[in-house]
Amino acid sequence: MPKVVNERQVLNALCEEAERLGATEAKIINVSSVVIEPWVQLKCRFGCPQYGKSKTCPPFAPTCKETKKILKCYTHAILVEGQPPGRDFKEMLLRLEREATLAGYHKAFVMGAGPCPLCARCPEDSPCTLPDKARPAMEACGIDVFQTVRNNGFTVSFLEKKGAYVKYFGLLLLE
Ligand code: SF4
Repeated sequence: MPKVVNERQVLNALCEEAERLGATEAKIINVSSVVIEPWVQLKCRFGCPQYGKSKTCPPFAPTCKETKKILKCYTHAILVEGQPPGRDFKEMLLRLEREATLAGYHKAFVMGAGPCPLCARCPEDSPCTLPDKARPAMEACGIDVFQTVRNNGFTVSFLEKKGAYVKYFGLLLLE
């Protein structure tokens, strides 16, 4: 990342870095625009085949109550839009989190999209095999991704057909 002198410049540089790493768009947002609702994890629990299987999904992910508390620890956030493959998107978010940490944001934490794509399958009876890289998805933490991205000027729609263009969203939390 290029050398920068003030906080706004650091945040802008992180957005540019996200786009350089493959994001379609990255925006600095207010943490208060992130919407957390109890119904989101209901959709995980009733309707998602990964419930209880992926170590980054409910019931292992923070509850929405915990997520509300966690977000209070942060003043800045960057919303990142990307596309499949999911593994590349996740690796890009992890690189961005590392860049933010190196830039002085020691609390930097990134949330991704969907069940963790890093291994073919999470082990059933043992802990995560890559704990340094495992991060929960926004929705796994109870974030209403649709409303949050719309609140910030991104467009998103429900996929009507298999194979339709998919957008992924990630959230980098900073303080
Ligand atoms: S890193 Fe591997 S074991 Fe850990 S949550 Fe992701 S897929 Fe599961």
